This record gives sequence, C-alpha cells and structure tokens, in this order.
Amino acid sequence: MSKFWSEALKRTEPYVPGEQPSQSDILKLNTNENPYPPSPHVVEAIQAAAQQQLQRYPPPSLDYLRETIAADQQLHKENVFVGNGSDEVLAFSFMAFFDPGRPILFPEVSYSFYPVYAQLFNIPYQEVPLTTDFRLPAEAFFQAEGGVIFPNPNAPTSVYLPLERIEAILQHNPDQVVIIDEAYIDFAEASAVPLINTYANLLIVQTMSKSRSLAGLRVGFALGQPELIEGLLRLKDSFNSYTVDRLAIAGAAAALEDRDYFAETTRQIIATREWFAGELKSRGFSVLPSQTNFVFVRHPAYEAGALYEQLKQRGIMVRHFNKPQIKDYLRITIGTQDNMKEVLAALDELG
Ligand code: PMP
Repeated sequence: MSKFWSEALKRTEPYVPGEQPSQSDILKLNTNENPYPPSPHVVEAIQAAAQQQLQRYPPPSLDYLRETIAADQQLHKENVFVGNGSDEVLAFSFMAFFDPGRPILFPEVSYSFYPVYAQLFNIPYQEVPLTTDFRLPAEAFFQAEGGVIFPNPNAPTSVYLPLERIEAILQHNPDQVVIIDEAYIDFAEASAVPLINTYANLLIVQTMSKSRSLAGLRVGFALGQPELIEGLLRLKDSFNSYTVDRLAIAGAAAALEDRDYFAETTRQIIATREWFAGELKSRGFSVLPSQTNFVFVRHPAYEAGALYEQLKQRGIMVRHFNKPQIKDYLRITIGTQDNMKEVLAALDELG
C-alpha cells in the first residue's frame, strides 16, 4: 500500500459495524433496520430492472432517481446528490467541504463514522460534549472554524434538536458548511429540508436504509443548494461515475413512489416505539425521549452489559454502549409490536 494511505490508516481508528448474525432465528434489534420488508412495488421494480436493464451501465447523471427524490422533497433535481448509502455520501461530503487545517465540530456522543472520516482525510476535529440530559448544546456549535456535522435526531441517543436551534447554528456559521445527518428524520417531528432555500451553507444527508426498509440496497442522498451539490457531483465523477447501480435506482425510486406504504409502516413504528418506551418506563428503565426508530435506555438496578448478554442468550440482539460519556446504555431498535413483546417477556424473565 502507498505510504500516503498506510499513514492515513495508521491514524484512523476503524469503524466497527454492528454485528450481522447469519442465523435467521435471531431477533435482530442492534442496527436500526426496519422490521417491515420494502414495499411490494420495490420488489417488482427491481425484478423488472434485473430482466431488462442489467447489461447497460447506469446513467451517471442519475436523473430519474434524483428527480424522484426531488419530487418527494419538493425540491429540484439540482438540489439532489445520490450515493451508495449515506455512509458514502458522508465520505464525499467530508472530502468536498472540510479541510485539513480547519477543525470541524461534531458531538462527542454521535455517529461513530465521523471521527473515522476525519482521521482518514486528515481533518482536525473537536468533539462537543452533550448536556447532562443528552441534548445537543447548539451554542457550542456557533463558532466552527472548519464546519459542523451532527445527526438530527442524534444517534445513538435518539434525541431531536428543534429547527430553530439548527437555524441558529446555520446563522452563526455563514462561511462553513453545516451537515445535518437526517438518517432517522422520518420518525421525528420535522426535517430541516425547508431551510435549504434560505441557507446556502446547509447540506442535509438522508438514507433509504431506515424508514424505507432498504438497508440492503445501499442508497443515500444529500440535499442542498446547487452549488454544494455540484461539488459532490464533481468529486463522485472523478472517483466512479457509476456509484449507484440499476437495481438500486429502480428499487429506491419505487420505494419513494409508494407513499402510502411508507406512511403506514412509519406510523406503525412510531406507535410501537411510544408503547414500548412506556412499558420500559413502567419497569423502572430510564428512556431518553426518542424521535427515531430506536430507544436509548438504562436501568438503575441492572447493568446494561449483563442485560445485553442475557438478551443475546435468548436470541435477541441489541447494542450495548459503555463509554465514559455514555455509561452502560442499551440501544434497542424498534421492531414489530410482536418483536417488542418478545423483548419485554425476556426482560421480565430476567427481572
Ligand atoms: N448516519 C447515521 C446517524 C446512522 O446511524 C447511519 C446508519 N448506521 C448512517 C448514517 C448510514 O446509513 P446508510 O449508509 O445505510 O445510508
């Protein structure tokens, strides 16, 4: 390997993805996937594309998918950049908008890919501590030298930052790009997308992996004013014009077009989340106010690490966090109502 990249990898602590067990009988609630399959129209569209289109390269401009996303978001094609999962879109965004030599800001407790990209691309960063009740202190992001990135709602905490606080961050950083990672926004109050026309420094990243049940297809996108999107397109075209394949284009567009299915599955997950959070609280858990498809919880009497192990022995996989800033928490993805009943039954057996 070249010296350049071996040095880059040496300074980078690798990202550790959540476990993906091969056994199908495991109740998998550890990586915030959707418990419902994608819309039946997605499967039909992918089958048709597989039969008719696979011998052709995908169109590098991705016009059809960009237009479908734009229509869904009430924007224009020129406001949309599409990539192979939002992880890839985030990587392009770090490269396009953040500089070595100018520190960026992100929350200390946040998506663990941000420090990885910063280290890899040699971008200095400062981690901003959350408040004691795990909220994002907007004022701490007011004077960024090199840009800002955070998820809203935040992960793994599930806590939402209201739009007026986001506007304050944008107004205080007119010369920096502020990236809002809205991976879980469809389970929350309101997206920052309507702010795009007002703020030239706002880039929003969303994914089809969560609310659209398409984690396996790998489609994510960025939304912003055309100047930012142009930067991302130039970068992508210099690496590989064909980052999104024809099956992904067909499946993602079909998912966006089936609005009823999306509305119904999302409504169901939110309802299950509210019910499950109430059940946990009645068992003595503290549950952070979630606006995502997962809950972030701890129990005063039981160690989260032990609960994690015991649930695992019963075939239920959740995520355990134990760092100085988040001592002994569990993150539990919201599955179907029956899935969550199973979790409660397992917890009751333990208690
Ligand atoms: N951002 C956040 C906050 C996430 O939790 C995830 C999922 N792990 C992603 C981005 C990446 O999602 P994907 O690459 O599947 O679009």
